Amino acid sequence: MSQLKITNLSKTYPNGVKALDAVNLELNNGMFGLLGPNGAGKSTLMRTIATLQEADQGSITLDGIDVLKQPEELRKVLGYLPQEFDVYPNVTAEELLDHLAILKGITNKAERNQVIAYLLDKVNLYDVRSKKVKSFSGGMKQRVGIAQALLGQPKLIIVDEPTAGLDPGERNRFLNLLSDVGSDVIVILSTHIVDDVRELCTNMAIMDKGQIVLRSTPQEAIEELNGKVYQKLIDKNELAEYEENYKVISSKLISGRPLIHVLSDTPPDAAFEAVKPNLEDVFFSHLSSSYSLI
Ligand code: ADP
Repeated sequence: MSQLKITNLSKTYPNGVKALDAVNLELNNGMFGLLGPNGAGKSTLMRTIATLQEADQGSITLDGIDVLKQPEELRKVLGYLPQEFDVYPNVTAEELLDHLAILKGITNKAERNQVIAYLLDKVNLYDVRSKKVKSFSGGMKQRVGIAQALLGQPKLIIVDEPTAGLDPGERNRFLNLLSDVGSDVIVILSTHIVDDVRELCTNMAIMDKGQIVLRSTPQEAIEELNGKVYQKLIDKNELAEYEENYKVISSKLISGRPLIHVLSDTPPDAAFEAVKPNLEDVFFSHLSSSYSLI
């Protein structure tokens, strides 16, 4: 069992944006969902763990490795799938993996061939291994990305916003693949898509404005909201008033009218209806500002 421990990690960019504000987090093997709106600091955190950028303060350890002081040790056990995996489009899938396997230190050709054939099969690209990566769909490219992230038996796999840009079928295949590899290693899935976390992750955190605002499991987080979420269909011109008087956690349009979800210990008024909370309610209720889907 591996352990990743992040202690008091902070980062302020030269333009004054505090992207990480004393982040503390401990993770073990399994799929971990890091959920946050755009700009929350997720990529900054992922890139810092992946040793691609430096922090101002704090520490990160993976088992015995001091990540910030021994980046080359971390890289040996890291699989990283960046937001856009689009390097070397002009080579075949097999050539690309071969090249990256050499960079990962798999110098024996026979061993490399065996590992690459195994991974191509696992990500369901064996039949197209001799085709150029640039001819692949977005989902196929992401699967090449996963295959390269699995090279060298990593202990830690980081995937940053992996499902953006995938169609529903591709997204399903990609998420299934991730959950297959997820139980033996630490996988961090960074995303603003609530469904990715609900479907895959046994543990989760919510990040907002550089801080971890919730650390839980999807199930427990939902249970905590039981009996506290109420909904009501209102008129558009009433929205501002409701936002002023209640803790409106989200609003979305249903046939042109806003359906608001409100966080409250008691029914706000007789026209509100109690709803069974879901992970979206968890997400929105922990953000500092209400979230409009309108
Ligand atoms: P997320 O991945 O959750 O969208 P990011 O880590 O990309 O969040 O960004 C967090 C904040 O830091 C945002 O306000 C973003 O504009 C800012 N930021 C990110 N990268 C840089 C950079 N290189 N220079 C300045 N500000 C940055």
